[in-house]
Amino acid sequence: MTGQDVQITEGMQRYVDLNNAYLARRSAYIRDVVKKWRFDTIAVHGLYSVQDAVEDYQGAIIEPAFLSSSQAYRDSDEMAAALAYLIPTWCYSRIANPSTYYYEWTLALLEGYGFAGETSCCSTSSGMAAIMTAVQPFLMHKRHNVYEPRNFLATAQCYGGTFQQFNVRLQQERDIECRWIEDPTDLDAWAARIDKNTRFLYGELPSNPQQGFFDIAAVADLAHAHDLPLIVDSTVATPALLRPICHGADVVVQSVTKTLSSSGFGICGAVIARKGLTTSIPIPELRNDFALYIKYLPNRDYGPNLHPMQAVLALNDMRTLRSKVDMMSRSTQKVAEWLSHHPRIENVAYLGLPDHPLHELASKYMWLVDAEHDDMYGKPVNRYGHLMSFCVKGGAGKARRFFDGLQRIWRATDLGRIKSVATIPAISTHQQQGEEGRKLANIPPNLVRLCVGAEHPDDVIADLDQALAGMDRK
Ligand SMILES: *Cc1c(COP(=O)(O)O)cnc(C)c1O
Repeated sequence: MTGQDVQITEGMQRYVDLNNAYLARRSAYIRDVVKKWRFDTIAVHGLYSVQDAVEDYQGAIIEPAFLSSSQAYRDSDEMAAALAYLIPTWCYSRIANPSTYYYEWTLALLEGYGFAGETSCCSTSSGMAAIMTAVQPFLMHKRHNVYEPRNFLATAQCYGGTFQQFNVRLQQERDIECRWIEDPTDLDAWAARIDKNTRFLYGELPSNPQQGFFDIAAVADLAHAHDLPLIVDSTVATPALLRPICHGADVVVQSVTKTLSSSGFGICGAVIARKGLTTSIPIPELRNDFALYIKYLPNRDYGPNLHPMQAVLALNDMRTLRSKVDMMSRSTQKVAEWLSHHPRIENVAYLGLPDHPLHELASKYMWLVDAEHDDMYGKPVNRYGHLMSFCVKGGAGKARRFFDGLQRIWRATDLGRIKSVATIPAISTHQQQGEEGRKLANIPPNLVRLCVGAEHPDDVIADLDQALAGMDRK
């Protein structure tokens, strides 16, 4: 894994054998115990077991926050084996840390829930760092040791920061062509843009804020037919509603900052990948275990790592993910229906509304995990998340008057919060990309993005109602 040949001494081998026994026990525990749990149990416990707690962590029932920069070793043999990555190690917290380790396992298991293969995860300091570290390994390497022009395909409807990263940092600064797909439901449009210099396909769904969607399985098949990976930003859905790897995606990026940690305690991200992904990059480690590869090599060298305190805060939020996402989705549905009948609203975009053009496609993919095993439902139920958007009649000025009149709903460029938040993307998240970029992404100036939190939906509706009524007042 280090990319160098290491001389394994007898003393090092002792540590390797000891750790192999530990790894075998861990694999058996995952296979025989954890993989048999329901989603909620995995979200609550992850890989942190009673045995871990009593043997290593003084019996702490909650994963400790390991605020330590590095690990000390028993002797030089253990140090040499650890730093050659021959045994699991915490060596140095830029590379690995016990708190981020449990965070990574919980996310790998949740995104891999229901998937027959194996998944792994690399934690990152933010969602943007997750995107950067997920795409770079496919772009940086000269496949055949000669200069090649490089391109990739991406859905034009995406988070504003993603647009900037791809358009400015990669395309303008580094000459790596980003081929935007304006209608990702058009498979021919994807197919027509792939050529021998394409490195990956990238899609965000449901997209923030317009809720673009595409047929994951069909796009994954297309990517694989060209020996390319499909990378999906699944931040808005979370694994409670959609697990793209189960449908053929190779890599998932998460802004864990958002719905996964609804409390709003800071910024964090993750890259989750299937083991044995599809790529034309001839690096076996990258192909076999992509998340571990980026964790131990590129991210070791670039350093976009997650703070252990942040990992523990996020872990705590994720324990109740499924029930929170269910409740917030139901409330959003109610608010969207109410808004769609309001005379001052031009249109409402929510995948859960039957007249949304992508409702049918989204209904194929977005299911509340384990609803069929839940007393309340006992059957599969669709849920569409808690992101919606709508246009206020009367243009940008009226939209801002309405927005300024909100009293309980917070004006913030944020989403996925336990508290309802709203923003006007044209003056916030999508301000940097200019009018042309917004047109490409279909962001009109009177568009309001609303994320319904865990308040009672009647109170959210009451706030919207008074703000809409007050719009015309001086
Ligand atoms: C917020 C967001 C990101 C970026 O994540 P950060 O944690 O803010 O860096 C990426 N994708 C989507 C869909 C987002 O909403």
